[in-house]
Amino acid sequence: MSGSEFDLIYRYLAGFGAGPHTRLGIGDDAAVLSLPPGTELLVSTDTQVEGVHFLAETLPEQVAYRAIAAAASDLVAMGAAPLAMTMSLTLPEPDELWLHSFSVGVGDASSDLSLPLVGGDTTKGPLTIGVTVLGYTPVGQWLTRGGASPGEVLCVTGTLGDSACAVALLSGGLPEDCQLSPEQMEFVEQRFYRPEPRFGLTTWLREHATACIDISDGLLADVGHLADASGVAVTIEADRVPLSQVLAVLPRDRALDWALGGGDDYEIAFTVRAGTALPEKVREIGRVDFGEGVSCSGFEAKKSGYDHFRS
Ligand code: ADP
Ligand code: MG
Repeated sequence: MSGSEFDLIYRYLAGFGAGPHTRLGIGDDAAVLSLPPGTELLVSTDTQVEGVHFLAETLPEQVAYRAIAAAASDLVAMGAAPLAMTMSLTLPEPDELWLHSFSVGVGDASSDLSLPLVGGDTTKGPLTIGVTVLGYTPVGQWLTRGGASPGEVLCVTGTLGDSACAVALLSGGLPEDCQLSPEQMEFVEQRFYRPEPRFGLTTWLREHATACIDISDGLLADVGHLADASGVAVTIEADRVPLSQVLAVLPRDRALDWALGGGDDYEIAFTVRAGTALPEKVREIGRVDFGEGVSCSGFEAKKSGYDHFRS
């Protein structure tokens, strides 16, 4: 990038760095962050590529918000509180209108998720957004995928499948038996573009969850990772999988295919001891047994795992 191109990017992105842990933000060779005493640092990176993770016609504001929320979801899955983020941005052209819209999404996500943007890198090339998120937990209290034991139950936050419905809608239209009103379309698109990482649950999760993962590739695929890491079998009861009001009235097999196999929900799946009192927006959907792998009772899911816009 030339100096003036860089100035433009700097002008739009340098204003989101302030936060309780930021000692030095954008502008120097590295950012400086302070960690609360008695905590450990958690780090995760997520990359979004135009045409793979989002369609070329997506509003820059939505691209930015979703890239940040998707990355932040991994911190929630580890039970971490948000500290800060950095962003590597690859842009074909530093277009001012594009940057203006993009910076609105960065600012919204940064403030909604308490993740100040403290640094990054900018290069020229096909549009790609890499977000590195930093978080912290009290020493030794982070969660992993590996702690589930037989006899425990599987829970999820929020509702599942809305994002996969939105991807179907955006990439060619919904099946004929799944027509939605404009308000319902708006709802599922918002669920796709504005995931809500559940930072409000991380304290509770650290206290109660035995294993935890975020649902980025689809419920079956991600719970499969949790089962493998924990060395257990997990059975999901299809009829207990939480659906939004929009998906709940669609044909059951379509809605459950999206909820079990579709990705990008960025909700959290976790295990707890049976009988644990659950917070709002959390539903028990299955159980942990001796054995291996994930299975589903009450529904034969068509696909597990998720391949974004490549259908
Ligand atoms: P250097 O050449 O030392 O790596 P740069 O000139 O690339 O530094 O960046 C200057 C400052 O701007 C640094 O503080 C860097 O973190 C920040 N920066 C560059 N690109 C971005 C971006 N896309 N988002 C946030 N901060 C950025
Ligand atoms: Mg430098």
